[in-house]
Amino acid sequence: MAVSATVAVAGAGLAGLSAAWELSRAGATVVVLDAVRRPGGVVVTERPGGPGGPGGKDGFVVEGGPDGFLAAEPDIQELARDAGIGGRVVDQLTSGSSLWTGRRLEPLAEGQAAALLGIQGVSRSAIDCGFRSFATGMADLVEALIARVGPAIRPAQGVTGVAPATRGWRLSLTGGSTLEAEAVILALPAWIAARLVAAAGVPAARRLDEVIYYPTTAVSLAYRGDQLATSLAGTGFVSAAEWSGVVRACSYSWLKYPGRAPAGHALLRAFVAPVDGDPGAISHTELAAILGLAGSPLWTRVFHWPRGLPRYKPGHAEHVAAVRERLARLPPLAIAGAGFDGAGVSACVRSGRAAARGILDRLGR
Ligand SMILES: Cc1cc2nc3c(=O)[nH]c(=O)nc-3n(C[C@H](O)[C@H](O)[C@H](O)COP(=O)(O)OP(=O)(O)OC[C@H]3O[C@@H](n4cnc5c(N)ncnc54)[C@H](O)[C@@H]3O)c2cc1C
Repeated sequence: MAVSATVAVAGAGLAGLSAAWELSRAGATVVVLDAVRRPGGVVVTERPGGPGGPGGKDGFVVEGGPDGFLAAEPDIQELARDAGIGGRVVDQLTSGSSLWTGRRLEPLAEGQAAALLGIQGVSRSAIDCGFRSFATGMADLVEALIARVGPAIRPAQGVTGVAPATRGWRLSLTGGSTLEAEAVILALPAWIAARLVAAAGVPAARRLDEVIYYPTTAVSLAYRGDQLATSLAGTGFVSAAEWSGVVRACSYSWLKYPGRAPAGHALLRAFVAPVDGDPGAISHTELAAILGLAGSPLWTRVFHWPRGLPRYKPGHAEHVAAVRERLARLPPLAIAGAGFDGAGVSACVRSGRAAARGILDRLGR
């Protein structure tokens, strides 16, 4: 189906990029607008490269946001194949995780770690199938999509308003410019989409900002292999609720996926509660006690997510469905992403592609 319409996608996270890819494949003229300079949303992979690179980080792959996806979830893997990087999907190398009780690490049954971390909507059978990632990090997929969607992506152009126009919608952008499009996909965090959709003519959408985004801080820490007192096994540990420390969970990133650290090195990733002081130093102190680490880390890298993973209140799905029903009466305008259809990366891909297909149907070409 060739579509001549211009579709504006607000948000260049995984949901928005997946939508843009689906639209451009169908021949639509797509413009992707993001408020910030770096596309990818919460997907951030750093690969400090090249001999003599800064801070001795050469050869590490550092994830700031998601580091993988459930192997049982097809959507992200289908998209990877469609985008030509199916061969870059890598399996998790280890399985099993532990519980830090405050005194010792005890083995956890499969699936228990997800429950302790409060991850919503993941079945036990899906967890049993394990996790996957991409050869040089989650940004592999973002980069493949950017390469295919191309210059249609306009960084540092946030959408501040959406109003009806003669043919479709008029978007107000940061800096005062406007853009007209026959159709719009808002692949934005729920609290931002809530305001825009309400102003566009669906007042009930204001309640979408009831989705709570929890703050989290992800701290990557690098060590030489000989700094580990014992050889670690499994994917990492989760801390018991009673533990009074700040490290809520820790991934053994270099054991979990291939190529995350150079030979003879270890890479940990801790998720920590909000702290006063340097999260890198505080995480190291706790991890040194829990895992028996000697000396100081080679380096630490901290990613703050003031609004990280979304969690839905009861009735969320019904409310999103009601908003979509109202949207169907307006010129083509869709919502997509973690704020609405599931927080996992695969759910975001599915949501973005579904929104694009819905828009293509509405445009009817
Ligand atoms: C620390 C962390 C770890 C995670 N780990 C995992 C994991 O291991 N596995 C997993 O499956 N999921 C994980 N998740 C969840 C998953 O990564 C996200 O839910 C998903 O990537 C969100 O994609 P999105 O496109 O919906 O939103 P986002 O990635 O948030 O993208 C939204 C985009 O909208 C842009 N934007 C905001 N306002 C405007 C505006 N006004 N105009 C234009 N653009 C705007 C933003 O700049 C951003 O680029 C993790 C999340 C976090 C934070």
